[in-house]
Amino acid sequence: MNKLIELINKLNNTQTLSIDEYEYLIKNRNEEAANLLKEYAIIKRKEHYSNSVFVRGLIEVSNICKNDCYYCGIRKSNLNCDRYRLTKDEILECCKDGYALGFRTFVLQGGEDGAFTDEWLCDLLKCIKGSYPDCAITLSLGERSRESYQKLYDSGADRYLLRHETADEIHYSKLHPSDLTLTNRIRCLNDLKDIGFQVGCGFMVGSPFQTTKNIAQDLKFIETFQPDMCGVGPFIPHKDTVFANEKSGDVDLCCYLLSIIRLIKPNILLPATTALGTVRNDGREKGILSGANVVMPNLSPLSVRKKYALYDGKISTGEESAQSLQKLKNSMQAIGYQVVVSRGDINKNNNTFSKE
Ligand code: SAM
Repeated sequence: MNKLIELINKLNNTQTLSIDEYEYLIKNRNEEAANLLKEYAIIKRKEHYSNSVFVRGLIEVSNICKNDCYYCGIRKSNLNCDRYRLTKDEILECCKDGYALGFRTFVLQGGEDGAFTDEWLCDLLKCIKGSYPDCAITLSLGERSRESYQKLYDSGADRYLLRHETADEIHYSKLHPSDLTLTNRIRCLNDLKDIGFQVGCGFMVGSPFQTTKNIAQDLKFIETFQPDMCGVGPFIPHKDTVFANEKSGDVDLCCYLLSIIRLIKPNILLPATTALGTVRNDGREKGILSGANVVMPNLSPLSVRKKYALYDGKISTGEESAQSLQKLKNSMQAIGYQVVVSRGDINKNNNTFSKE
């Protein structure tokens, strides 16, 4: 048996490889390996989630950000960015629309906006939880103190998405200004986990300066940290950033990594990201067929969708939007999957669904 196939079998059986082995798996990838990984990933995903695809309603609450991440379209030094912040009523209206459409998870994502004090957020969380006690709330609002995370958790937030971005310190420093550190990012992730949040980390595929070794380090980080969720999507350049002239990440590599991550943690909640659907029309379907089991349609008011531009060409009408849920359901059904109305929590009790 060749080494590539041997490593895939080892990963499938043990959920662990060394950094060198991950690197080998990425460097030497070919169609046969990609197909085998996909096959195993689909078996594992079905054991935990049958053919269900969970949906999360994404509410882009603000594009105001105090940070200056070199890759991000809403970085503070982008003076061309038309800034907005949703009001509490606007966010509640999004939840109301989303609930009626069948969403049972709301993801509140935004820049690190100073107006999001603990007091303001806790009041919002209590209102959402009061109106929709059967829904999960996911926050993705960046780095905060442990005390702040604790208050948000106590006010009803269930999950927190905070991509680690890259597990390599030097690479991290090439993507961020010096006031942002990998150490603090990891501190946040550890605090969130410790408090009791379901936590998501993740990284961009094809970010500038990323090496194969870096991706291997990311995989090892995921294996060690054992997140409940993992956001992995292609980097896409934004015209008003330092990386305007870089190229987008590769969809096939991204899907290959989704399969690997499914094998590292078979019950992980793994989104087929909007970025994947932006780089390729059928990107999200490809993601699901590679082992992903979550999609996050946009529930933000139409008037702000274009303003929350992390990268160029973000899809913001059509099947990515929550209002076109039926289209999404149809496209998932066409590839053998079913969008379900449920909170879609992580399946922790190893109970397996009957195989179709
Ligand atoms: N401020 C929060 C944070 O830092 O986690 C949440 C918002 S941030 C914009 C969400 C994610 O968008 C980041 O973690 C990053 O990986 C992703 N992102 C930003 N710019 C991107 C780009 N140019 N291409 C692809 N993904 C990007």
